[in-house]
Amino acid sequence: MTDFPILSEDDDLFTSAGLRLTVDLSALTENWRDMARRSGAARAAAVVKADAYGTGIEDAGEALYLAGARDFFVATVDEGVTLRLYAPEARIFVLSGIWPGTERRFFDNDLVPVISSDEQLAFWMAVLADYGDYPCALHVDTGFNRLGLHIDDAVALANDVSRPASFAPVLVMSHLACGDDPSHAMNRQQLESFRRVTAAYEGIDSSLAASAGIFLGEDYHFDLTRPGIALYGGEAVSGMANPMRPVATAEARVIQVRTVGAGETVSYGRALQLGRESRLAIVSAGYADGYMRSQSSGGVPLRQAVPQGGQGFIAGHKVPVAGRITMDLTIFDITDLPENAVRAGDYVELFGKNMPLDDVARAAGTIGYEILTSMGLRHERRYVAEE
Ligand SMILES: *Cc1c(COP(=O)(O)O)cnc(C)c1O
Repeated sequence: MTDFPILSEDDDLFTSAGLRLTVDLSALTENWRDMARRSGAARAAAVVKADAYGTGIEDAGEALYLAGARDFFVATVDEGVTLRLYAPEARIFVLSGIWPGTERRFFDNDLVPVISSDEQLAFWMAVLADYGDYPCALHVDTGFNRLGLHIDDAVALANDVSRPASFAPVLVMSHLACGDDPSHAMNRQQLESFRRVTAAYEGIDSSLAASAGIFLGEDYHFDLTRPGIALYGGEAVSGMANPMRPVATAEARVIQVRTVGAGETVSYGRALQLGRESRLAIVSAGYADGYMRSQSSGGVPLRQAVPQGGQGFIAGHKVPVAGRITMDLTIFDITDLPENAVRAGDYVELFGKNMPLDDVARAAGTIGYEILTSMGLRHERRYVAEE
């Protein structure tokens, strides 16, 4: 009846998935080596929070470990417990710190809490009194005003002779607010503030730079850098050509190709009226497969940046989204492609090697980080690596 592809039972699930993600582990490790080189004399850690930015903490963490990464940052203790299985000898820092009731999980899995508030510090001192020596990291706020000890408190703590001998920070760190904008005066201000901290904690490793900070140069590198997004191929510095290799490629299956007459409308709200007879590809991915940042309270470029909306890549061409994206489905206009170039069962690349992640993010009014970490639960994942 039709040439609709019928797959045999032996076919890998991946070849028939509605939405699939291919993660290139060679590109990931090459990106890590690249960031390690750019970190100069500093060691490069690997930030693998949020399931390694959506690429899978087990496989990505193990690949980075085998490539030589020995310092890792995760956001939560659960992420640290998972990573420990794949990075046996690594130092694993937990950015959200420690909370009463979770001490055993830290000790049993050899995880290092990042202490970033007075409450956490007080709790940590009490824990040490019970359990004895154990390493920790200190996060000091230098102007971001998210997590971190107040700078004066951190300096006072360094000089406090009455603090317990078992209190053994192995790292002091801070985080830049404007690292992605190299010309921003805030970078220098935070650098100067952080130098006050490192002077007080002489002899203890220090860390300031995430991906963007690495590009700010040697002054920002200290002993340990903390690249995240750059490892996964995302853009760290706005307005600079992105030197990283793409790592994640997301593709959605075409469920149906339909021809629609001139003057008809497409999708909810009749949001698009077609000026010509058109061919449309209906594709199995929608907003339930990616949560949009457009609802932030401020600082979001929303839709002004790319008024015509997003694009996908299929049959060697970029094709525009047609009308509103819906929960499970997106419609692409393929009228400009040769007839029969696209058939049901083909895949549209949503982002990846041919559709740069950050172009997709700009069209969505968000950042590559959010696109990567928003794929939800409905996709199949596959790993590839060069031999
Ligand atoms: C997420 C995070 C990083 C990594 O940032 P990227 O911009 O992804 O490189 C580094 N440090 C801290 C404290 C973070 O929260």
